[in-house]
Amino acid sequence: MTLQLFDSRSQSLREFKPLTKGEVGIYLCGPTVQSAPHLGHLRSALVYDQLRRWLEATGLKVTMIRNVTDIDDKVLENAKAQNTPWWELAYKYEQQFNDSYRRLGISSPNYEPRATANIIEMIRLIEVLIDKGHAYHVEGTADVFFSAESWKDYGELTNQRSDDLVDDAEAASRGKKNPRDFALWKSRKDDEPEDASWDSPFGSGRPGWHIECSAMSVKYLGTKFDIHGGGLDLRFPHHENELAQSRAAGHEFANFWLHNGLVNVSGQKMSKSLGNSILASDILTDSNALALRYYLGSAQYRSVLDYQEGVLAEAKSAIERIKTFLERCERALSATKKSEDAKAEFPEKFSKAMNEDLNLPAALAVLHEVIREGNSSLDQEKLGDAANAYSQVLAMVNVLNINPTDSFWHGSEASSQSMSALDGLVTSLIAQRNAARDNKDFETSDRIRDQLKAVGVVLEDSAGSTHWSLGG
Ligand SMILES: [Zn+2]
Repeated sequence: MTLQLFDSRSQSLREFKPLTKGEVGIYLCGPTVQSAPHLGHLRSALVYDQLRRWLEATGLKVTMIRNVTDIDDKVLENAKAQNTPWWELAYKYEQQFNDSYRRLGISSPNYEPRATANIIEMIRLIEVLIDKGHAYHVEGTADVFFSAESWKDYGELTNQRSDDLVDDAEAASRGKKNPRDFALWKSRKDDEPEDASWDSPFGSGRPGWHIECSAMSVKYLGTKFDIHGGGLDLRFPHHENELAQSRAAGHEFANFWLHNGLVNVSGQKMSKSLGNSILASDILTDSNALALRYYLGSAQYRSVLDYQEGVLAEAKSAIERIKTFLERCERALSATKKSEDAKAEFPEKFSKAMNEDLNLPAALAVLHEVIREGNSSLDQEKLGDAANAYSQVLAMVNVLNINPTDSFWHGSEASSQSMSALDGLVTSLIAQRNAARDNKDFETSDRIRDQLKAVGVVLEDSAGSTHWSLGG
């Protein structure tokens, strides 16, 4: 049974075969770091993390590139509104994205190129397009546009005929020959900061959004690579334009195009104007990160995911069922038995579901079915069957990275518990020290302070109260 993936370009399920035996290159459109990450961003990164883990589980070596768009109209606008340098704003949000990804257990890509670090590659690609007659430079400006009508296959990704296409909104500039032409290079505007533009043969300016991904994917994965992914909202114009310019430059480009569905909130599209966006910072806490990962990864990746009240509670009880089963097995099965079975195979039905375009609802149904059967084997003391179920469940939850007994999901919870226990102890010692001082028993008060210092707790007295900290 081989992996079938839905290729958006051919609008069909196709058998996935790596271009190079044993290896897979994936380019994923990463965030434009203009504002804080929301639920939709998290889902997008998560579904490609599931894909990557599944490919790796089948023995393939995956190279995943996920870019950061750190220069863009919105980045500049928001930086201006917040009266902060654009690069500082972009970096602040980049860190928020990475922090959220990490907390959700999403593996880092093999490389994460920033657009501003690849300007030379973009300029070279634009020069190729001009030389081949697919792009033109507007006299007296630094603007360069891709000529949509020069590329006969324009519209192929989204199956649109050229006449039906909406005009490109990004470039409202003078000098465009056709409303569907799109910007490859944009002149610096007078009110834009000077450090947001780069010298180029066309004049001082900055790249358009689409050219960034065409240049970066080829730089890191070559002119032909396996999979290009992104959210459904990127299909047009972003991916259509990427494909047109890359192929016009002579690159074969992506073999498969994957698009993930968006996240709605109670049946409505998340949007700024409706004020219903759920930010990662509103929802992602250390104690619910695993439930959020489970929930966001529980639907088929192409479907719309409708976030509603109560979905995380459901995810938590599913995780609780997994945890209870694993712990029950660990108590019931001997250590030898467990290690013998450590090299588990996935149940055939699970592999089949995953190979059907990552059919997660079906794969999770298999997981819970094996747990049910495993529990009844334990009830009937059929330990051989229970051990089998145990190792299968471990294999499934590990490949999906939803193993509730994995220390990854408890590190911060455990450390916050220890911190609060430590705070209780130190606070009570501080009270004893203060009482000793009030009684002018300085020998005792100094001894308490020195004992705390010896274990790395430093006291600081100020304005009648005592504050403690670690280290110092
Ligand atoms: Zn992109």
